[in-house]
This record gives sequence, structure tokens and C-alpha cells, in this order.
Amino acid sequence: MRFLPSQEINMKRALFPGSFDPLTLGHYDIIKRGVTLFDEVIVAIGVNVEKKYMFSLEERKQFIEEAFADEPKIKVVTYKGLTVEFCKEKGVGFILRGLRNPADFEFEKAIAHTNRKLTEIETVFLLTAAKTSFISSSIVRDVIRNNGDYTKFVPKAVRVKQ
Ligand code: ADP
Repeated sequence: MRFLPSQEINMKRALFPGSFDPLTLGHYDIIKRGVTLFDEVIVAIGVNVEKKYMFSLEERKQFIEEAFADEPKIKVVTYKGLTVEFCKEKGVGFILRGLRNPADFEFEKAIAHTNRKLTEIETVFLLTAAKTSFISSSIVRDVIRNNGDYTKFVPKAVRVKQ
């Protein structure tokens, strides 16, 4: 078990887990709004060895770090294994997730109930902003693969190497 420095004990921290392949304006909106609710938002890139990604872990991390370079309340980390175990290890009490549509709700509901069975960690949901609610990383990847203007859907920090 890790002992937290005294000033960190009462901090309200939220973990925002995902693949971020790549970070989109939808994620950006949730993270920005998350920092108004929590003392710290930890953007956590989950590593799944069975998944194929378009961007490397280093690139995905760099995009997020650059997008929030002037936000001291936002941290970026990578992790493997169960999200709730990682939260316990880091002393994080909340998981932050975005909800775009009923399909997201059904999927997130099952995960949040499972996590509550496993631990005391609460999941906090934010409804996506209307103007970014249609954006998904998978559609952005499709636009990139087909040479479309992906810059309309991602923060400036996200750039594809030519
Ligand atoms: P995952 O691998 O968990 O699907 P994502 O990177 O796609 O990871 O998403 C991480 C989180 O961001 C999820 O809570 C998801 O609902 C949320 N999210 C994804 N796209 C948007 C969007 N356009 N607006 C708001 N939240 C979003």
C-alpha cells in the first residue's frame, strides 16, 4: 500500500480511463468539465495487449499531455489490469465517464455496477456536450485512414505524422 502525502489525503481525485486512440474533442470536453468537480483528474490510458491501436501508447500520452500542458490539475498515466485496482493503488475515489447515447449508458451501467461490487469506488457520469456528442475515436480513425480532415474532431495537439 502506498502512503499519500498529507496534503493529498483529502483530495477528491477522479480517474478518467479509456483508450484515447486518439484523444477527441469529446474527451477534451469531459476532462475540462471534470476539473471543475474534482481537485485532480487523472487521465488513464488503459493498456490492452490484445487490442490493435492506430497510435502508439507514447503518442496517445503525448497528445493528452500537450492538450492539457497548462492544466496542473490534470495528470496523464498508463495502466494495465482492472481499473478499480489501479484506483485503489493510487488512492482515487471516483471514476469519471462520459455518456453520449443510450448504448453508452447500457454498457457503462454494467461496468459501474461491476465496479461497485468489487470496491467502494463511485462512477460519476457526465452527459456529453451536444456539439461533441457524435464524436468517437473510431470514427476519427476512419476519417484519418481515408485522408479526411480529422482536425475538426480533435484538439490541436493531436496530429498525424505524414
Ligand atoms: P474506451 O476504450 O473505454 O471506449 P474511449 O477512449 O473511447 O475508451 O472513451 C473513454 C471515455 O470517454 C468513455 O467514458 C467514453 O464514454 C467517453 N467519450 C468518448 N467519446 C466521447 C465524446 N464524444 N463525448 C464525451 N465523452 C466521450
